[in-house]
Amino acid sequence: MSPVRSSAPLLGHITSRVAPFVPAAMVRQLGSAYVAGETLQDAVACVAGLRRDGLEATVDILGESVDDIEGASAVADEYLRTLTALQEHGLPAHLSLKPSGLGSALGWDVCGREIERVVRDAEHAGSFVRIDMEDASTVDGTLTLYKKLRAGGHDSVGVVLQSRLWRSAADVQALAVLRPNVRLCKGIYLEPPALAMQDRDAVRSSFASLLRSLLAAGSYVGIATHDEVLVVEALHIIDTLGLCRDAYEFQMLLGVRSDLARLLSREHRVRIYVPYGSDSYAYAQRRMRENPEMAGHIAKAMFAGLGHAVCGLRPATAARATAPH
Ligand SMILES: Cc1cc2nc3c(=O)[nH]c(=O)nc-3n(C[C@H](O)[C@H](O)[C@H](O)COP(=O)(O)OP(=O)(O)OC[C@H]3O[C@@H](n4cnc5c(N)ncnc54)[C@H](O)[C@@H]3O)c2cc1C
Repeated sequence: MSPVRSSAPLLGHITSRVAPFVPAAMVRQLGSAYVAGETLQDAVACVAGLRRDGLEATVDILGESVDDIEGASAVADEYLRTLTALQEHGLPAHLSLKPSGLGSALGWDVCGREIERVVRDAEHAGSFVRIDMEDASTVDGTLTLYKKLRAGGHDSVGVVLQSRLWRSAADVQALAVLRPNVRLCKGIYLEPPALAMQDRDAVRSSFASLLRSLLAAGSYVGIATHDEVLVVEALHIIDTLGLCRDAYEFQMLLGVRSDLARLLSREHRVRIYVPYGSDSYAYAQRRMRENPEMAGHIAKAMFAGLGHAVCGLRPATAARATAPH
């Protein structure tokens, strides 16, 4: 599950190399800007804060792969509790979930049953469930599951397509008949050249082309990027197609480019991905690896002495990101 750096490749490379040696306490400290907190109450408070600022949310429960049925069921139950808590607070947030967290390792039927349970409750609550996309080996299983859910009459569910994958153009075509609700992102997983584009500009241009196809075919798209070049390109496509603001939304991760999110939210719907839970280590590591400033922060901390650094370090990006919510 190694993330890919698509900008500032040298710094990203350095961060990836040193990341395994970064002490867990430092990962937690630097990564705290990217998560709402450990508890459901933290998530609810975060979503409420975002809403006050005119931002929507999709809530993700942190955790890595689950490989027993009880575990998968417990995660689904936690999603149901999250849904109830959001409803009780009058917060119309969406949910984002990962197949691996709901037992895809045990089989897509197991995972499908748990996800359907969440989707059914979300439907009753007037909410929406996004099935996150994991590495390339899971795309077939995830899209098949999505199609089954749709065939079963569940419309309040969406998928994710990754612009770095060569196959995504064909997936857009194959899904078109369903007019899918798609989150489009670059894709965070390191994939071999046979499966994925390796060049930053190719990934960007694929993103723009997929976005144009999806929107032109009437799909609702969650445009999930912090890349200003792509945001500008997306605005151009939206303008060219003459779309109203109900046809798409921008999506960003909590703690990343909150300045850009706020700016966009003046005229467009913007949804923030809000992860919470006690198992934030792997998620924090992924975000740190994508932060172009992180290599410098880590290096500074390492050279300054780790113990001192863990207590005192506060990256500019993280500090900026936590301040408003
Ligand atoms: C809402 C949302 C949901 C996602 N869901 C999935 C998914 O289901 N599957 C999947 O594979 N990937 C997912 N991703 C991750 C995505 O694929 C990219 O890995 C990630 O968004 C970085 O790509 P980027 O387009 O923002 O461009 P980048 O070029 O990586 O980033 C653009 C700029 O954003 C800023 N930035 C980016 N990351 C950070 C950071 N961590 N800290 C500080 N600044 C940062 C920097 O200024 C950087 O130059 C999701 C992303 C978002 C926003």
